[in-house]
Amino acid sequence: MDTEAADVVLYNANVLTIDRRRPRAELVAVKDGEIVWVGTNDDLALFKGRSKLINCEGKTVIPGFNDAHIHIMAYASNLLSVDCSPSSVTSISDIREKIRQQAERTPRGTWIKGRGYNEFYLAEHRHPNRHDLDQAAPYHPVRLTQRSLHACVLNGLGLSLAGISMETPDPPGGLIDRELDTGEPSGLLFGMNSYINEQVIPPLSEKELRQGVKLANLSFLSSGITSVQDATVRNGFDQWQTFRCLKERGELAPRVSMMLGLHALADLTERGLYYGYGDSWLSLGAVKFTLDETSGRLNPSQGELNEGVFQAHRAGFQVAIHAVEESTVEAAAAALERCLLLNTKADCRHRLEHCSVCTPPLLRRLKAIKAVVVTQPAFIYYSGERYLSDVPGTQLPWLYRTGSFLKSGLKPAASSDCPVAPCNPLVGLYAAVTRKAESGQALSPKETISPEEALRMYTLAGAHASLEERLKGSIEVGKLADMVVLSADPTGVAPEEIKDICVEKTIIGGEVVWER
Ligand SMILES: [Zn+2]
Repeated sequence: MDTEAADVVLYNANVLTIDRRRPRAELVAVKDGEIVWVGTNDDLALFKGRSKLINCEGKTVIPGFNDAHIHIMAYASNLLSVDCSPSSVTSISDIREKIRQQAERTPRGTWIKGRGYNEFYLAEHRHPNRHDLDQAAPYHPVRLTQRSLHACVLNGLGLSLAGISMETPDPPGGLIDRELDTGEPSGLLFGMNSYINEQVIPPLSEKELRQGVKLANLSFLSSGITSVQDATVRNGFDQWQTFRCLKERGELAPRVSMMLGLHALADLTERGLYYGYGDSWLSLGAVKFTLDETSGRLNPSQGELNEGVFQAHRAGFQVAIHAVEESTVEAAAAALERCLLLNTKADCRHRLEHCSVCTPPLLRRLKAIKAVVVTQPAFIYYSGERYLSDVPGTQLPWLYRTGSFLKSGLKPAASSDCPVAPCNPLVGLYAAVTRKAESGQALSPKETISPEEALRMYTLAGAHASLEERLKGSIEVGKLADMVVLSADPTGVAPEEIKDICVEKTIIGGEVVWER
């Protein structure tokens, strides 16, 4: 190699490469955004005087984190709303107070958006309702989202702007909670948050969007995230253009793989876009399907799902199916089995997003179709306590089975599903290694995995999930120079300490884009 040409050399580092052929190194050299040399401190002489040197002082360097399933625009919007998460409120009265303060600063009639409440951690142990919100803001429409985004609460004005009254039937896939005595909507809505977002609340202005994305960008970089995969089902050509503009203006630093909804497939392919279209900064990813059973039956139906999945598969796209409950995971498996039976392709790597409940027979089926499971270890940390109290005992052993996925030879990738959970991968690593909730309670501890395996899930397996493992995900010659410097070695510290490890530097394409 022409060593004179290296732009940056990281040395004196504890490099965890995630490359099985060479798991450890001390020095990494970068040229034109790519890794050109992985070696020991003895190799420093090759570069001295000719390259920018970064002395890592013995700190740990890993490949940049790849968050395999997030929602960038929802996160941006979330960051602009009133924080009602357990870290800032402990009761419904606190929520009322925060909404009341926001109302004072907001012109009457303008939507007030709150985020992240978790009824499990509220002193009252219930969801807020329209009356709580009306008390706080009688002259503003209010929408408060629950942590998982599965539920949201509207106040009276919000309900009337959404056209939801006593006479409104439950929409497909949604549920309008009603007061027992009057039959009036209580304000609590299940499975309707996207509808409210898209059809009722005015979209963010250009200025708000840029402001929110700026905050999201900072959050990704300070968390060491160098690649994200946007799993938003409503993505289409407009969203593709928005991402392109953000990338061109340098307002969104991590590399982005954008999934799309089936509704946009024909439009995008007619415009000449195809699976993997784009470059290493922004590329087109899987066709995303959302499968739920909120209203008691599958939505979409098995037939519709089969048809859609096959259509995307035939168009050369990877498929990513959101499936949480046992019945939806089963329906997703059935659609993928059918699709591979009709048309086998060498490596289509279809994905199951969440796959929260996976029984032993389902695991065998997923193994047979070589499905990629994209799991969310941090849910165990942030919601473990709720799972332990709400999920039936018979299903608990089958929840988020990271260890079993690995043992059965699947290549699970990790993600945060941000804004559903905060995006910090170190909390996810901690949860994957310990299976511990924030409260300290453990959820099926036999599913624990080693810190090495957990790191692989957040890096190389993430790249594998979007068919980009040749490009990134490990520290190897020829790969993109996306790396993170950590304050400590996740494979060397006590498991309890993993969540407290700090990101010191985030490097994308060989450039330090964030520093503590
Ligand atoms: Zn999601």
